[in-house]
Amino acid sequence: MGRGSLFETVAPGVARVHSIIANAYLVGEPGETWILVDSGTPRDVDRIRRAAAARYGEESRPAAIVLTHGHFDHAGSARVLANFWDVPVYAHRLEAPYLSGQSEYPPKDPTVGGFMGMLSRFFPSRTVHLGTRLAILPEAGEVPGRPDWRWRFTPGHSPGHVAFFNARDSVLLAGDAITTVDLDSWIAVMTNERKVCRPPAPFTCDWKQAHASVRQLAELAPAHIACGHGVPMSGPEAPAQLRELASHFPAPKSGRYARMPARTDHNGVRWLPRDVPDPLPGIAAGVGAAVVIGAALAKRKSD
Ligand SMILES: [Zn+2]
Ligand SMILES: [Zn+2]
Repeated sequence: MGRGSLFETVAPGVARVHSIIANAYLVGEPGETWILVDSGTPRDVDRIRRAAAARYGEESRPAAIVLTHGHFDHAGSARVLANFWDVPVYAHRLEAPYLSGQSEYPPKDPTVGGFMGMLSRFFPSRTVHLGTRLAILPEAGEVPGRPDWRWRFTPGHSPGHVAFFNARDSVLLAGDAITTVDLDSWIAVMTNERKVCRPPAPFTCDWKQAHASVRQLAELAPAHIACGHGVPMSGPEAPAQLRELASHFPAPKSGRYARMPARTDHNGVRWLPRDVPDPLPGIAAGVGAAVVIGAALAKRKSD
């Protein structure tokens, strides 16, 4: 990606809009009907709007915004963009309680460890309230506005997580069901080293489901894998690494959800495993995170 590019083409018909934390995707070739898959954090409104205008034209608007799930780094700009474009925001019905103010997500678990576990102390558990913009994905797997794509139910990272697959071009938009960067390693995050890895651990509330979802995605053998986090991957190592992850899935050994999942239903959270005390004092963690985020920003500027 060149300096100042608003988006980069990562697979047939798919462009990545890259923000400091998460990826959003513009799906559809210029001139076609298009959709926005995920919407970054609340700070990404402008970037996504400018990227869409650059790819599709100033007056163009999508058929819909569709979300892999509702975490703040995927749904953050959805409401503002939906109002701007006057379009609905689709999510799975099991994700709806968290996007309508009915329930909070299961609490994050910083004690699960790793780099992202440490940073997660400073990420909000709350997400956005989509109000009347929220719409439910059609049950049969259709993706509104893009008949060449299907959604697949891939819960575990969040209760109503979905991934999007285009069988013709073998493209997988996996959301946070997997990542293409090892978020547990600070070095991997800093260097953007590409590797198919487990979902972002501190925000994953059911590891058994998460593993089953990875197995399901591995069966698709996608030639292109584009996730919420990490640089997208294409070529034979993408499906090979996904298969490897499915057969040797590194579920955490400790942490709040390591042994028991959060129990959720169409009303949101029903039951939670007991909280694990967080041994890291807030101030020490704050200093650590400030240093790390500062380094990340400096690195991004020099890219
Ligand atoms: Zn997430
Ligand atoms: Zn995410």
